[in-house]
Amino acid sequence: MSKIQMKTPLVEMDGDEMTRILWQMIKDELLEPFLDLKTEYYDLGLAHRNETDDQVTVDAANATLKYGVAVKCATITPNAARVKEYHLKEMWKSPNGTIRAMLDGTVFRAPILVKGIEPCVRSWEKPITLARHAYGDVYKNAEIKVPGPGKAELVFTAPDGTQIRELVHEFQGAGVLQGIHNTEKSIVSFARTCFQYALDTRQDLWFATKDTISKKYDHTFKDIFQEMYETEYKDKFEELGITYFYTLIDDAVARVMKARGGFIWACKNYDGDVMSDMVSSAFGSLAMMTSVLVSPSGVYEYEAAHGTVQRHYYKHLKGEETSTNSVATIFAWTGALRKRGELDGIPQLCDFADRLEAATLGTIESGKMTKDLALITSLQDVTVLNSQEFIRAIRARMEQA
Ligand code: NAP
Ligand code: MG
Repeated sequence: MSKIQMKTPLVEMDGDEMTRILWQMIKDELLEPFLDLKTEYYDLGLAHRNETDDQVTVDAANATLKYGVAVKCATITPNAARVKEYHLKEMWKSPNGTIRAMLDGTVFRAPILVKGIEPCVRSWEKPITLARHAYGDVYKNAEIKVPGPGKAELVFTAPDGTQIRELVHEFQGAGVLQGIHNTEKSIVSFARTCFQYALDTRQDLWFATKDTISKKYDHTFKDIFQEMYETEYKDKFEELGITYFYTLIDDAVARVMKARGGFIWACKNYDGDVMSDMVSSAFGSLAMMTSVLVSPSGVYEYEAAHGTVQRHYYKHLKGEETSTNSVATIFAWTGALRKRGELDGIPQLCDFADRLEAATLGTIESGKMTKDLALITSLQDVTVLNSQEFIRAIRARMEQA
């Protein structure tokens, strides 16, 4: 059997710990036997980030902007313990944060549905994709712990010195105070990315804020989405038979619980943080979740939603057996390969991605799975496989097909 050829390289960002081990196994067992895999390799493993003063992360993000499609392994975000463990020169920033800032993106997360892992919410028949705005609000705030009585004001000063003032509160005693912001540019690109993703995936788009209470801040989000929909997307949505639906955030939450799924739920930064954890755990597991960062310029970065699975890695280092779920990492690769196939006009590459995903799900549905899934499956007669056995079982299925 001849291997499938690629044209443009994928930007490959290697990572840390257990996911780095899985990364190599996936390439060896599931990709290279079938593909003439072309990648431009960037080692985002913490040791190499440290050696390059984190320049490698910036280079990888620039390569993503150049080629358009990247696949990323989970990476360590350093904290004090990691600085010691890896003898770091500095507490380097989160690579995801650096990459997101350079690509100006929105993160889309969708559960991977498989027979035998049922969502906790009985009405959910199709995946719910969460689109999280990844800039501003409470994540870039200014806070004051108010010590006692006093007047709190919001002040905006223009370059010519003119000011806009708004009273926040006359404090009679101690309290707390917070200032948050967002920019029109970021909200516009968030909206555009969501509308575009809805078109690409042919799904309805939901968006919700608290505009009845926040008549300027949240209302601006609502207005930007509405105006963009009417001027740029309404016709295209109607052509595909999909809808844009705006409602209040509390109403959205109530409706999501009764919905059948199969739509994109766009959330402001905080709502997306909270709701994506709720949706993902209700669908089963973080290891059964796809995650893609989409930039308004049409650049895609695929990754797993979970971390580097540190606890399993330390077991692995001690020579103990691990049963780490590689599904999300496999789907990061298939997502990236399929997108590359679409952009380069290589249907065989898209077809390969479909077959690898089907083989992965088929393996689980046949009762062969890692421990995390064995604990929650409704299937009987389950065989728990270790990290490598699971990947080999998928390969065997690929070869049979
Ligand atoms: P984690 O790697 O997501 O793992 C937390 C726990 O979730 C694991 O101990 C394991 O539970 C379970 N788990 C996660 N993924 C699994 C998988 N594929 N298969 C089976 N079980 C899985 O989170 P963490 O341990 O808090 O973080 C470790 C490192 O990852 C940190 O340094 C953090 O900075 C980094 N991180 C990176 C990213 C990213 O690059 N996207 C995201 C989050 C965190 P059991 O131990 O109970 O089996
Ligand atoms: Mg969260």
